[in-house]
Amino acid sequence: MKLGIPKETLAGERRVATTPEIAKRLVGKGFEVLLEVGAGSAAHYPDQDYAEAGAQLVDRDLCFGADIVLKVRRPTDDEAGKVRSGALYISLLESCGDDPLIGRMAANGVRVLGMERMPRISRAQSMDALSSQSNIAGYRAVIEAAAHYGRFLPMMMTSAGSAKPARLVVLGAGVAGLQAIATARRLGADVYAYDVRPETREQIQSLGAKAIELDLGESGAGEGGYAKELSDEAKARQQSLLADELAKAHIIISTALIPCRPAPELITAEVVQRMREGSVVVDLAAANGGNCKLTRADEVVVEHGVTLVGHTNYPSMVPADASAFYARNLSNLLEIMVEQGDSGLVLKDLAEDEITRAMLVG
Ligand code: NAD
Repeated sequence: MKLGIPKETLAGERRVATTPEIAKRLVGKGFEVLLEVGAGSAAHYPDQDYAEAGAQLVDRDLCFGADIVLKVRRPTDDEAGKVRSGALYISLLESCGDDPLIGRMAANGVRVLGMERMPRISRAQSMDALSSQSNIAGYRAVIEAAAHYGRFLPMMMTSAGSAKPARLVVLGAGVAGLQAIATARRLGADVYAYDVRPETREQIQSLGAKAIELDLGESGAGEGGYAKELSDEAKARQQSLLADELAKAHIIISTALIPCRPAPELITAEVVQRMREGSVVVDLAAANGGNCKLTRADEVVVEHGVTLVGHTNYPSMVPADASAFYARNLSNLLEIMVEQGDSGLVLKDLAEDEITRAMLVG
């Protein structure tokens, strides 16, 4: 069974869907691994390492002609047309609801699995790319904040004087937020965190941060462990109750998201205006409209003396480890999808396993 791993083409995307280590594991399991020449170079994995791992370095069309095409990002129009009928295509699809491009692939006889549709059950944890990549985003967001902040994060006592620790607030304590808390604590910041789901309180505290608690008059807990959208009254109440806490912060890392909905607006323009000169807001929700009114997606801007960071692809800023995690997620997924047949590996019925059934689109 042939696996095709093309080079990612989206501007700024440095990740690759497999690493030499995972390619070796896949070859050992009986797959033929076809990698586009140069596919791993932006993630610091040279062609030679893949060749030594047993992968074949081929051109783009051969990759797309494989039995299973593995990518990080959603297919472009051109890529979608290259996948052959009867093949399987797997990547993050970055879409919600109706997706005409994926519909066209299905109509051409291509089966598509969306990595973000991975069910959030214990058995699927090792295959969960949303979690692995969010973890990296949470870590990298704090590094980004530290780089833009003109002061220290930890308390410093030196012969030249002392400095107080930065007051850092994390909004949203899901996978990215919890990693941001842990990273900021390691760097010595004084960390506060808030999430609309009450069950996050203990997780926040177990990482050594202080939980901000607000009485919104309704619960923000939705289905499957995710948050739900609040009523307009609760949204307004949340903004005003949060305002004083946020205005005191020197750094805000905001990660609040609701699946398939615009990101909740938690940081108003007025809050930014009240923050100390030189403060930093890293808005991980920038691609979904932003948690801050003033964030601009894919830009770093300064408003009222506050730096607002709106990058939308943090995992790609840690490309070697982000690719390694993603590649492991894919390899663990492939393991449950195939079995040994008389003349090599064969694909199991994807509708039979609850994991692949949930991931199938169309
Ligand atoms: P996410 O990326 O969808 O959202 C990030 C966080 O923003 C969430 O914690 C959410 O509650 C919070 N949020 C949304 N609206 C908010 C608001 N108005 N104010 C403040 N915070 C707000 O979430 P995620 O990181 O993907 O995690 C979602 C859930 O899935 C969590 O319960 C997590 O533990 C669970 N999970 C389970 C598994 C598994 O079992 N395999 C794997 C990963 C995550």
